[in-house]
Amino acid sequence: MNRLLTISILCITVLSHCAHRRSPTPIDEDQPMSKQALVVVDLQNDFCPGGSLAVPEGDKIVPVVNDLIGKFSQAGLPIFATRDWHPGDHVSFKTQGGPWPPHCVQNTTGAQFHPDLRLPNNATIISKADSPERDAYSGFEGTDLAALLEQAGVDHIVICGLATDYCVKATALDGLKAGLGVTVVEDAIRGVEVQPGDSQKALDEMQAAGVLLVQYGAVNP
Ligand SMILES: [Zn+2]
Repeated sequence: MNRLLTISILCITVLSHCAHRRSPTPIDEDQPMSKQALVVVDLQNDFCPGGSLAVPEGDKIVPVVNDLIGKFSQAGLPIFATRDWHPGDHVSFKTQGGPWPPHCVQNTTGAQFHPDLRLPNNATIISKADSPERDAYSGFEGTDLAALLEQAGVDHIVICGLATDYCVKATALDGLKAGLGVTVVEDAIRGVEVQPGDSQKALDEMQAAGVLLVQYGAVNP
C-alpha cells in the first residue's frame, strides 16, 4: 500500500513537472529562421473602380496593403509587386476571342499601379502575360519570381492584392507548388465575383491546399 502510494506520488510529480516544462512553450532557438517576402498581386488601375476590368472595392485594400508594405520595409524584407502587362492584341481579350475586356495594356494608365500604392524603390516588379499568345494568372507563371525568391533565401510568402478568385489564388497555389509557405491576408484582397461566391470558393480552395489565411493584424514579419 505504501509502495503504491509512493509510485502514485512519483507519477504525479513527474507529470506536473512535464506540464510545467511545456507551458508556456519556450522559443526554440535551434529552429531555422523563416524568411518572408511580401507579394502584392496586380494592384493596377484597370482592376480598380474606374478601370476596364474593375474588381468591386479593389481600391479599398490600398491602405491595408500600404501598411503591409510598411511592416515588411521596416523588417528589411523583400517586396515584390506583380502586374498584368499585356500587349494590345492579348489572347485574353474579348477582341481576340478571350474572356476579358482589354485591360492592363503595356505602358497605359490602366496598367499602372494604383496611384496611392506606396511601393518602395527597391521593390521588385514582376511583369506577367506580356506576350500576345499566353495568359498568366499566377505571378510565378512565365516569370523569374520563384528564382528571385530562392536567391533572396525566402521560404514563406505573404500575399495581398487583386483578385482573390483569379491571380491571388493562382499565385498562392503556385507558391505552395514552389515549396514555399504561403499566407494570404484576407482583409488585403478583393474578388472579381463573376459568379457570386467565387471569392469564398477560392479561399476554401487555397485553405484546403495548405495556404494560411490571416487578417492583417496577425502579420508580423
Ligand atoms: Zn490579364
